[in-house]
Amino acid sequence: SVKLKDRVAIITGAAAGIGRATAWKFAGEGATVILCDRAADAAREQARALREAGHQAEAHALDVTDREGIDAVVAAIKARFHRIDILVNNAGITQDARLARMTEQQFDQVIDVNLKGVFNCTQAVVDTMLAQQRGVILNASSVVGLYGNFGQTNYAASKFGVIGFTKTWARELGPKGIRVNAVCPGFVETDILKSMPEKVLDGFRTACWMRRLGAPEEIASVYAFLASDDASYVNGVALEVSGGMSV
Ligand code: NAD
Repeated sequence: SVKLKDRVAIITGAAAGIGRATAWKFAGEGATVILCDRAADAAREQARALREAGHQAEAHALDVTDREGIDAVVAAIKARFHRIDILVNNAGITQDARLARMTEQQFDQVIDVNLKGVFNCTQAVVDTMLAQQRGVILNASSVVGLYGNFGQTNYAASKFGVIGFTKTWARELGPKGIRVNAVCPGFVETDILKSMPEKVLDGFRTACWMRRLGAPEEIASVYAFLASDDASYVNGVALEVSGGMSV
């Protein structure tokens, strides 16, 4: 039986990588999936493919740094579906450089998308979830948000910050029937790793006790669990999904 039957789920950054895999997983679990991405054409293409496969899906052009744009998309979703059950704050970017070389622009861009973007999108849906007295918010952190990483001052700060949001909102919203959790993936084979040299990727493989990178579907299935009633007593956690990097 399906775990997310008729749940209305917004996924940001759903056009590629982990977000795309999550959209397909949620759809397979019976959810109505709303794919949001600044790469609007790619998001529309995924939504079309999902519908062709018999699922409920639609796409919206959305940049998580654009508060007015987010409000308009959320209003459109509410007008059509009258509820929002799940928000997956998945959109994220990297702009890597060592501390001594990181530009202010690199710093600001990553904080704007990965940290403030999560705030923007969650604030835009929270009134709806409060009125429903029900909802699930899932945030994309990272092992980098637990341990830090060479060359990722900005990204590490954003991902530690996302865990701070998660624990704060778990306290604020838990009593209102809304669960908030973060997922901390290890290194997963998506476009985000394309900028990394092969030597670094080999280092990631060695750092993980499963001796391999993760697949996007292996993160998507954890989002599906946390979004579902199977996780009905899970609130405020930052769940590491890294094949055992910390062991
Ligand atoms: P990806 O680059 O494959 O996909 C990211 C998607 O987000 C893209 O479709 C992109 O267009 C979209 N996006 C970027 N900026 C956006 C914005 N401002 N507004 C809306 N959409 C935007 O990345 P991924 O590897 O699938 O990563 C997804 C999330 O998981 C990110 O938050 C990332 O930090 C996190 N994560 C990834 C890994 C990994 O190894 N791949 C590890 C830990 C955490």
